[in-house]
Amino acid sequence: MYCSWGWAGGGWNFVIILFWVALILGGIALAAAFLARKKTGVPEEHTCPSCGGPVRSMYLRCPHCGGHLKKHCPSCSRLVQVDWKYCPDCQAKLDDQTS
Ligand SMILES: [Zn+2]
Ligand SMILES: [Zn+2]
Repeated sequence: MYCSWGWAGGGWNFVIILFWVALILGGIALAAAFLARKKTGVPEEHTCPSCGGPVRSMYLRCPHCGGHLKKHCPSCSRLVQVDWKYCPDCQAKLDDQTS
């Protein structure tokens, strides 16, 4: 009987099919990894004290209203959140002025 997978006439077809299967599997794996990374991306866990919009912890200003999110400790000049009452490093009391 006729065997389409034999090397007698369609040897290159088998190689080309293997190539495409590997390519498609690789593409699916890449897409899955990309989707998983996108789904578990950096969460916007902070909210702006001025407008309540989502901001990230590394932001210095709110991208929504332009309000300041960080300020410098008057005692040790560490970068602290504007809504913090005390500096976690030097324990100094933080006043409400935004510089
Ligand atoms: Zn804001
Ligand atoms: Zn300090």
